[in-house]
Amino acid sequence: MDPRLNERDAIADILAFHVEAGVDVALGEAPVDRFEESARERTLVRPRPPAPDSRPAATASAPSSAPARPVNNTSRPAAPAAPASAGDAPPPPDIAAIAAREAAASAPTLEALRELLEGFDGCPLKHTATRLVFADGNPKARLMLVGEAPGRDEDIEGKPFVGRSGKLLDRMLAAIGIDRTTAYIANVVPWRPPGNRTPTPQETAICLPFIRRQIELANPDILVCLGGPSAQTLLGIGEGITKARGRWLSYDTGTRVIPALATFHPAYLLRTPLGKRMAWRDLLAIEARLAQEPAHPRD
Ligand code: URA
Repeated sequence: MDPRLNERDAIADILAFHVEAGVDVALGEAPVDRFEESARERTLVRPRPPAPDSRPAATASAPSSAPARPVNNTSRPAAPAAPASAGDAPPPPDIAAIAAREAAASAPTLEALRELLEGFDGCPLKHTATRLVFADGNPKARLMLVGEAPGRDEDIEGKPFVGRSGKLLDRMLAAIGIDRTTAYIANVVPWRPPGNRTPTPQETAICLPFIRRQIELANPDILVCLGGPSAQTLLGIGEGITKARGRWLSYDTGTRVIPALATFHPAYLLRTPLGKRMAWRDLLAIEARLAQEPAHPRD
């Protein structure tokens, strides 16, 4: 038998396996040995004590109960975006996290922060995503909502929460009279992870200084974390979202402390409609708190 027929079958099998496993994007021509890559990183990066305004990568997705505190130093110049040109391997995660902290702290405005992110090469997700998904809505809104990471639709449009879960989010907000002119929406991680996988703790740790700075600069009166990963990263909740949702917590933006609430992620509600009753309670709590909280002066 022609050996090329066997080869063709084998390739078709491998492709079918990838499709079943959820692979929906080809990233390069040649395979990359990630095990060898991380072994190399381990020899390059010596462990160091955490900087005072940082948390170690491993705690980014399951931090302590202390609320995350953003970097509040606007006087330092932006660090050069962690060096990487097309085809270069991204820098080791802790070097990228340091560059991220310095870059984020140097952004004086949201627009400057967006530009810094556009030029920042320290997060490997940037190289697989189509584009940056920075924010949508009104940056002067009193309410800011933060999800986990963009999905496919967001990656295509460059705006957070525009797919199915975004449509549900819009309907939920509309029920309390809010739309994208009265809310500001972002994600902890601003690039789509390939195949919509969960961002790794390292990726989250690298992106964390940027979202903290984004919250600080937007300076909302109320912060709402959509889903467990966002609440764990930003509010330091140690328990699952089912337990943590609906409870008012505090978030220190770096310039003031604001009320913060975790609620179910709309994607979870699409899969689990029974959760909508609880989500409705959370929405009513947000509406009541907005009415009761003094509006912070904004320019
Ligand atoms: N899920 C998120 O967490 N963020 C989005 O922008 C879309 C879906």
